[in-house]
Amino acid sequence: MQIYDVVIIGAGPAGLSAGLYAGRSRLNTLLIEKEKDGGQIVITSEVENYPGCMEEESGRSLVARMTRQTETFGVERAQDTITKVDFSGDIKVLTGKKGEYRARAVIIATGAYPRPIGCEGEKELIGKGVSYCATCDGNFFEDMDIYVVGGGDTAVEEAMYLTKFGRKVTIIHRRDQLRAAKSIQEKAQKNPKINFMWNTVITKLKGTGLLESMVIKNLKTNEEVEIHAPEEDGTFGVFGFIGFLPQSSIFEGAIAIEDGYIPTNEKMETNIPGVFAAGDIRVKDVRQVVTAAADGAIAAMMAEKYLEH
Ligand code: NAP
Repeated sequence: MQIYDVVIIGAGPAGLSAGLYAGRSRLNTLLIEKEKDGGQIVITSEVENYPGCMEEESGRSLVARMTRQTETFGVERAQDTITKVDFSGDIKVLTGKKGEYRARAVIIATGAYPRPIGCEGEKELIGKGVSYCATCDGNFFEDMDIYVVGGGDTAVEEAMYLTKFGRKVTIIHRRDQLRAAKSIQEKAQKNPKINFMWNTVITKLKGTGLLESMVIKNLKTNEEVEIHAPEEDGTFGVFGFIGFLPQSSIFEGAIAIEDGYIPTNEKMETNIPGVFAAGDIRVKDVRQVVTAAADGAIAAMMAEKYLEH
């Protein structure tokens, strides 16, 4: 069986950047992704804070360029979901649904996935009114009512993007103050299509086929109200943007994990020699595309050094 120099798990900005650097160093590299490239950034409609990105660069287009660039350096690709890892020997073994992979060094860049809203009926109505991706699903709600859950940068930015489609966009936030940056809040407050529901959570989503109504609760008064889709629309959209959950469960027992995130030093080394972590899966303060890309570059260069020894 082939033994790669480096196997990278996850093709978001961290994994793609690691692939680019490993490929350029002529390391025999395999980049494994379970779905589509890009991770969280593909659900971002506009990336205005990655250096060099201007004039309505979307997450999707940025990632497409990153993928092309990485592939020009000869990185091998596999589409598979890794379900088990064995990091105990010098040769690391990764077991996927489709096959087994062996490598001298591993870079974990599995990132995080959207946190569910956590209410009754949510799971059943995903893709039928409930979404976590404005760029993917916004156009389904053309001239309809849209509700966005969350109060951070993502919720407010994506709510503004959704005003391109919805008749009105209501941000439902559990507190009476947004967490989003002031500059983002100011833009939202100037947008006439944006409304706010403060101190409110969704407790139930209902619908047979499509989302038809939801029960919301005011956390100050405990009052519950059911909101129905306007008759002429038959449905409405609920978008959840309340943070992310790290994708680290398969590494439990194999490396050190803290609250779901992987601690590393500044060389991206985990507690296991030859295993590196990069991007949103790391314990870190700033989770941005630019920091993920930087992590990936460092991880690949440190993996190269590790392999030289
Ligand atoms: P975030 O900053 O962690 O905000 C999550 C929001 O969801 C908070 O308002 C939180 O409420 C709310 N929330 C969490 N759990 C909830 C629950 N169970 N029910 C209801 N509401 C819940 O996440 P984010 O907005 O996705 O941002 C993640 C990181 O990316 C941040 O560092 C952010 O600055 C960065 N980011 C930056 C940009 C940009 O600079 N353009 C764009 C997007 C994201 P509370 O406020 O009450 O805690």
